[in-house]
Amino acid sequence: MKTAFEIKKEICEVGHKLYAKNFVAANDGNISVKVSEHEFYCTPTGVSKGSLTPEMIIKVDENGNKIEGRLNPSSEIKMHMRVYRDRPDVNAVVHAHPPVATAFTVADIDLDQYILPEAVLTIGDVPTCDYGTPSTMEIPDSLEPYIQSHDAFLLRNHGALTVGCDLTKAFFIMEEVEFNAIICKHAMELGAVHEIPNEQLKKLMELRQKMHLTGRHPGIDLGEEEKPAGVCSKEELVEAITKRVLAALGK
Ligand SMILES: [Zn+2]
Repeated sequence: MKTAFEIKKEICEVGHKLYAKNFVAANDGNISVKVSEHEFYCTPTGVSKGSLTPEMIIKVDENGNKIEGRLNPSSEIKMHMRVYRDRPDVNAVVHAHPPVATAFTVADIDLDQYILPEAVLTIGDVPTCDYGTPSTMEIPDSLEPYIQSHDAFLLRNHGALTVGCDLTKAFFIMEEVEFNAIICKHAMELGAVHEIPNEQLKKLMELRQKMHLTGRHPGIDLGEEEKPAGVCSKEELVEAITKRVLAALGK
């Protein structure tokens, strides 16, 4: 079992990685780790994840109230606590604002295309939760429809939340979400997004079972029939964007 210091150090290391990878700006983002039913270590409010040190990490109870530490918990701790309440299998939560994945929510394009085997295996589609005002219960409530079936969630016009059986897993899922979004965006810019064919998707899901991968997975939506390759051509993308712009202009 890890010591308190080791857990705090691990939280700091993940914070430094989030900052180094530009997954957070200024004091954005927060990280938490469950140590018992009533004790959780988490990052404080008002501190850059790039400058975290172990003594800054605080301990809170299951309601997000501070038990230990000099600094105060983030107001966004509420969404972490909602996850721990509803998902006993989760021991770590990471919240960040990865720019490309977040841009998908701003553009109102779902991150639900099966384009990379690793992402299909580990996360499946990533749902976009309804927009909520930070620090209110709107964001925890927006997770509800997806919380039992997913380990990665996009928060509309805000960022992403990932969960795991440990902190490394939760961080890796955050990386996976952003990497998948980057590749999807590049493919769109190149003119076509070819999804992995249904037969191959089925093989990946069989592999997932054989590998006994941990975490929740929404399964694969194979649709009524196989989607044709090049499901999102450049022309279709331009047409969709033009329609949205005209709609926004009220034309
Ligand atoms: Zn946030």
